[in-house]
Amino acid sequence: MERYLQGMGISPGIAIAPALLFFHDRYDIPSYAVSDLEAELARLDMAMQKTRKDLEIIYERAVQELGDRNAAIFHAHMMILDDVVLREELTTHLSEHQKNMEHTLDALATRYAQAMNSVDDLRFRERTADMLDVIDRVLRHLLDAERPNLRTLDQESIIVAHDLTPSDTASMDTSKALGLIIEAGSVTSHSSILARALEIPAVIGVEDASAAVTAGTMVIVDGSSGRIILDPTRETCVRYRKAQERLIERRAALLRSTKGKPACTVDGVEVMLRANIELPLEIEHSQNVNAQGIGLYRTEYLFIDRDSLPEEEEQYKAYAHVAEAIAPHPVVLRTMDIGGDKFVAHLQILKEDNPQLGWRAVRFCLARPDIFKTQLRAMLRASVHGTIEIMFPMISGIEELRKVKEVVHEVMADLDEEKIPYNSNIKIGSMIEVPSAVMLADLLAQESDFFSIGTNDLIQYLLAVDRVNEKIAHLYEPAHPAVIRMIHQAAQAARVRNIPCSICGEMAGDALYTELLLGLGITALSMAPVAIPRIREEISHIYLGEARTLARKALKMRTAAEIKELMEKRHLIRAKKCELLMD
Ligand code: PEP
Ligand code: MG
Repeated sequence: MERYLQGMGISPGIAIAPALLFFHDRYDIPSYAVSDLEAELARLDMAMQKTRKDLEIIYERAVQELGDRNAAIFHAHMMILDDVVLREELTTHLSEHQKNMEHTLDALATRYAQAMNSVDDLRFRERTADMLDVIDRVLRHLLDAERPNLRTLDQESIIVAHDLTPSDTASMDTSKALGLIIEAGSVTSHSSILARALEIPAVIGVEDASAAVTAGTMVIVDGSSGRIILDPTRETCVRYRKAQERLIERRAALLRSTKGKPACTVDGVEVMLRANIELPLEIEHSQNVNAQGIGLYRTEYLFIDRDSLPEEEEQYKAYAHVAEAIAPHPVVLRTMDIGGDKFVAHLQILKEDNPQLGWRAVRFCLARPDIFKTQLRAMLRASVHGTIEIMFPMISGIEELRKVKEVVHEVMADLDEEKIPYNSNIKIGSMIEVPSAVMLADLLAQESDFFSIGTNDLIQYLLAVDRVNEKIAHLYEPAHPAVIRMIHQAAQAARVRNIPCSICGEMAGDALYTELLLGLGITALSMAPVAIPRIREEISHIYLGEARTLARKALKMRTAAEIKELMEKRHLIRAKKCELLMD
């Protein structure tokens, strides 16, 4: 019988395939006394050599497919393997207990796991998890057991997992892994970011998926609605396959019909459509959908999942590369938004009671000028390779904006002294994502070259709804009248000063709100590349005059329900028009 699960759809598309349960299980470890210790050590060395070869292959693959930054984790694993400490510990344990090497490795792993679970230090926990990952690989070679991985899948599958590690995701065979169902995770978790970047339909936050799904169960994943259907009937399968085909055809038709065209309203007003990126491979995705630049480069992804900070040179190369690839369009580099739910273990940011209200973004950067200045130097140096703009996250008032700009000027002075070229007219923008910034938007507009509204955070702070807490997700409401008024206020302040005002939160990629956002005065939208063709098409059916009338009406409404109903009605009319045109 058909059964249903509901989670959060975080990467759009429909996937239909049998389930593959991907949970790391334990295996039987033989335990016996040994007298020839040298022979056991020779077995260990052989297994370590094989592990190194595996890691080299995975590393090379990850560099090519996911870029240096994401591949760095495997480099770290190689270093753990090469570290004499691991071999020394194993040798000591072996001579003390005189048990076979499988037993010795397993005993060491158990000890590490216990230590990891009793310590709060995030950095220690991550290092130990990496250590366990490496020990597991060696152990499997000793046992001659195949490590479960997603690199070579026998057949097309929907991967069901509690969570996916960078190692799992990086080595995933994306031609056969058609969809993802993840028990854990939030919209900003590593697996969500990568699912979107790889454009694989995915649903997260599906509690107890492992209990509901057995291996081989036929599954339908709808990565937009978050709906999962288990053991679908023939009729349901046929229906979803048709929907899937329609979706694929529609995407292709959309791309064809909008390729090379700017996004224009019916009355001829151009709207800038730009891409949000986190990974190097998204540069190509952005080019494929003809994005008019990168509206948000979340540079903090250069800093997470690695053992040390990226040096200036590495950052410079990454920024210069994207600027060159996207030229002549601009690239908006957002300075690192570390903290909140984006932790960087090696920076020793301690866990906070209220991380979203805590040591985050520019607050962190101003407290760590060494890290901040290195990033700004890299950005400024890269600015001669294309059109780079710099944007600051979580600006809450004028003092903060002035302080970060002061640091930019200090870095510029250093570069002048060293005769290093950069664009001295570089545009500097403020993210508007804290309610106080909206209240002061008229003042911030006087000292910013552009605004970009981060609705993901603005909604969280305005409505006091933690954006990653599943229990209150129903209160997270983009159509709330207060949100609409705030967007309007920020856009109007920008208009008065004649500076661009874009939106780079998830709302920008939701066609339900496109007309309203344009009516409120938004001039550019930045979103995941996959959403761009759909929004471009939506814009082609909108009259800016009508959008303004709609916005005036919405601004007078009292409840989110009323606003949503109005948006849905308008959206339905346009969707029908689009379908008529597509047929
Ligand atoms: C936002 O807050 O809307 C935003 C775009 O930034 P992030 O999601 O990275 O916080
Ligand atoms: Mg934000």
